[in-house]
Amino acid sequence: MSTLDLRRASTVDEALRILHDEPRTPIAGATDVYVALNFGQPMPTRYLDIWALDELRTIGVRGDTLVLGAMASFTSLIHSPLVADRLPMLIEAAKLVGGAQIQNRGTLGGNIANGSPAGDSLPVLAAVDAVLVLRSVTGTRRVAITEFYTGYRKSVLRPDELITAIEVAPFAGRQYFRKVGTRAALAISKIVLAGVRDATPRIAFGSVAPTVVRARATEQALGAGATIEEASEILAGEIAPIDDLRSSASYRMRVATNLLHHFWSS
Ligand SMILES: Cc1cc2nc3c(=O)[nH]c(=O)nc-3n(C[C@H](O)[C@H](O)[C@H](O)COP(=O)(O)OP(=O)(O)OC[C@H]3O[C@@H](n4cnc5c(N)ncnc54)[C@H](O)[C@@H]3O)c2cc1C
Repeated sequence: MSTLDLRRASTVDEALRILHDEPRTPIAGATDVYVALNFGQPMPTRYLDIWALDELRTIGVRGDTLVLGAMASFTSLIHSPLVADRLPMLIEAAKLVGGAQIQNRGTLGGNIANGSPAGDSLPVLAAVDAVLVLRSVTGTRRVAITEFYTGYRKSVLRPDELITAIEVAPFAGRQYFRKVGTRAALAISKIVLAGVRDATPRIAFGSVAPTVVRARATEQALGAGATIEEASEILAGEIAPIDDLRSSASYRMRVATNLLHHFWSS
């Protein structure tokens, strides 16, 4: 007999009520939760399946803001004309998440809530100052993704809240996304750079620190006319790659610098 206790919600309101009444871990596509359950980590035993919440799958525009439902799968992002028009670098990122099965099940909200610094959507969302919509029975609050994480896989998300949507206001500039992994498909990133090249450039890195990093000093230097060599030195003070089983800190630093050069020259 399984020791796990699962409930299912069929509406957002029902899900929020359940999370308010009893502590439960939401499961969206389960692509991260299943892995954790099967690796013997200490895990919660009570879960709430939110896969049926179709109302969180909508991708649309409100006013001039792109609104991505938190349950949008990577596959739906890849095929969305709105995302292609406004945030094509998110499509590039989504295409490199796992393989087809993971793209079908994995959700944008799950990638954000899981909070891995290697989550491929996070640098894209950080570079464009995306805002997360967090809902509970007591109300809705909006938190910038750059304010969401408080440490390694820690965030301000409360146990009674769901991420319901991700909002991206319009912005100008050319988008750039590059993921460096062991191979092109089915690889967790060693380094990711997402950026927007404009008079005020925006640059975010994944896998270089406990959380996604917005390289603000580097952005400001480049925007003020610093050379790429000067900007690279500033970047070295803004990121803190680590040695782990996927890569060494020195390799990651070198690749981060190379990506910065590529971003700025492309
Ligand atoms: C083989 C494989 C390859 C992978 N490759 C990549 C890759 O290349 N790049 C990458 O970034 N990731 C990768 N992943 C990780 C994973 O697929 C993504 O992080 C995915 O986006 C998780 O979404 P999910 O819906 O499956 O999340 P789940 O596993 O359902 O949930 C993950 C966490 O988020 C919470 N959560 C989910 N939805 C919400 C919500 N709406 N509100 C609040 N909390 C929520 C859950 O409680 C849980 O803590 C891979 C995973 C596997 C198994």
